[in-house]
Amino acid sequence: MTEELHIVGGGMAGSEAAWQAANRGVRVVLHEMRPGRGTFAHKTGNLGEMVCSNSFRSDDHEQNAVGLLHWEMKAAEGLVISTAYKRRLPAGGALAVDREPFAEDITAALTSHPNILISHEEVTSLPDQHQWIFATGPLTSDALGQAIAAETGTEALAFFDAIAPIVHADSIDMSKAWMQSRYDKGETEEEQRAYLNCPMDKDTYEAFIDALLAADKTEFHEGETAGYFDGCLPIEVMAERGRETLRHGPMKPVGLTNPHQPEVKAHAVVQLRRDNALGTLYNIVGFQTKMKYGAQTQVLRMIPGLENARFARLGGIHRNTFLNSPTLLDASMRLKSRPNIRFAGQITGVEGYVESAAMGLVAGRMAAAEITGAALPPVPQDSAHGALHITGGAEAKTFQPMNVNFGLFRPLEEKLRGGRRGRRDRYKAYTDRAKAAWTDWLTDTAQAAQAAE
Ligand SMILES: Cc1cc2nc3c(=O)[nH]c(=O)nc-3n(C[C@H](O)[C@H](O)[C@H](O)COP(=O)(O)OP(=O)(O)OC[C@H]3O[C@@H](n4cnc5c(N)ncnc54)[C@H](O)[C@@H]3O)c2cc1C
Repeated sequence: MTEELHIVGGGMAGSEAAWQAANRGVRVVLHEMRPGRGTFAHKTGNLGEMVCSNSFRSDDHEQNAVGLLHWEMKAAEGLVISTAYKRRLPAGGALAVDREPFAEDITAALTSHPNILISHEEVTSLPDQHQWIFATGPLTSDALGQAIAAETGTEALAFFDAIAPIVHADSIDMSKAWMQSRYDKGETEEEQRAYLNCPMDKDTYEAFIDALLAADKTEFHEGETAGYFDGCLPIEVMAERGRETLRHGPMKPVGLTNPHQPEVKAHAVVQLRRDNALGTLYNIVGFQTKMKYGAQTQVLRMIPGLENARFARLGGIHRNTFLNSPTLLDASMRLKSRPNIRFAGQITGVEGYVESAAMGLVAGRMAAAEITGAALPPVPQDSAHGALHITGGAEAKTFQPMNVNFGLFRPLEEKLRGGRRGRRDRYKAYTDRAKAAWTDWLTDTAQAAQAAE
């Protein structure tokens, strides 16, 4: 009988870690505090709940680093990615997911697994006995957060993410808005029409920016001074950086033609993406905000087509807690001071559903190998998992949460041409190299597991 593995947190990372370890013959106890103790963002007691956007982002595994991560997770028989594909919604080139069936499927798969026991309780300390993976995410409970801070001796860093608002589809004025994916991207007609677009002329845009700058915003609490993460800037912070910033970001008007006025080029376009399978809810893409609720509804209703919008959820801000992993963790994601404790997911300083699940996949396999005595080869640096792997070469002083991106990859040996064509060739070379390295790693890992049996 092998030693038990305890995993704390049944979100993206903990669910994947449990699946991976259990499939390698390890008995897993998965501790999830919900529904008994909730967080402000989770709404259910389900495992694998998506707390905000329903997107796993680009699914392009040749030209995009997150699409590559999808590919690698699929090759490793990941639960999170296979369930996302099963519950996929049309969204152009993105992998959007029907969130409730997705979490229900994850819950069912883990609950029915013969090697997994689910325990719905909060864990508040770092135990000395057994192997543990802590995957408690950006909203780690206070008691556990204090226990981690006491052990690491390092103050957990905090910064803020902002949530994008969600609108009821039947409250959108379709005599002004239209359905189209940017550049008509997508294979099917449904994908080519996956986004709902609201156009703005110049005067409306200028008035919108004025209102955004003047709107009441939620202030930081005293002492909470950490900066925003660039990938998730609130719209009002983008507007503060320059009046044109939004027009070059989430409100860019390119690749879209308004069928109501085909001869008029919009000055800016607000895009909404389907948020559920029924198509009754749409989230405003890239519109994370920390405007107060009253101001928020007023400002958002200035968007043509949303004058009478009803909001299923308004935007908000939240705290994100993460460790300084380069200082605290070893290459096997273990706490250097307490090697029976591993961390995984967003708390290790990756950012996003996919990245968190990917780090759960790696941590689950690492813990399983340690328990079963298999010699797990190091995660290949050239794979997307390896590039993201938080302890691999990250700078401790400037350590900030990070989405996967090609900037994290080891540079290519051969020189490829510059320009758009050159970029495509370069990205393809990165993804080809990564796939080969990952495939080899999976083969070596399977052989090591067999040898340990
Ligand atoms: C408000 C908000 C909005 C976000 N929006 C997005 C988005 O749009 N897109 C995106 O990709 N990412 C988003 N993120 C980040 C997202 O949460 C993570 O990318 C992902 O969910 C992290 O996965 P995880 O497994 O590390 O943590 P989670 O998925 O949060 O899972 C952690 C789990 O641990 C449980 N838990 C916490 N403390 C304890 C304890 N002491 N004992 C037992 N269980 C515990 C929690 O209940 C939770 O189920 C958002 C985060 C927040 C907070």
